[in-house]
Amino acid sequence: MTFPAKAILRLSLLGTLYVFAAPVYLVLGIVRLNRLLWAFSVISSGRVICAHCGHENVLNRLATCNRCHATEYGSLLYCSFCHQVTHILACEQCGVTIRVIPKGWW
Ligand SMILES: [Zn+2]
Ligand SMILES: [Zn+2]
Repeated sequence: MTFPAKAILRLSLLGTLYVFAAPVYLVLGIVRLNRLLWAFSVISSGRVICAHCGHENVLNRLATCNRCHATEYGSLLYCSFCHQVTHILACEQCGVTIRVIPKGWW
């Protein structure tokens, strides 16, 4: 087999692989977009409702950062001192851990 024929065969196989993989990437993209929109709606609403006890947890209030221990008024999910982004928080009512921002949502 000559060089151009090998290159064309390799490119056609690679193209076929991409065609077969495209639906998988489409589904994964839709799932990630759904998670992103859900996290955006939760953060913009400013409250998270616990799935266990139904308590409404307010995201913007006085909080202490777990990393730098700075206490400030603001979002529970972001520290303006050390710039840490928190993905989870504990329910104020029952203590259950709530994942606000899904892991790997980018
Ligand atoms: Zn901090
Ligand atoms: Zn709860």
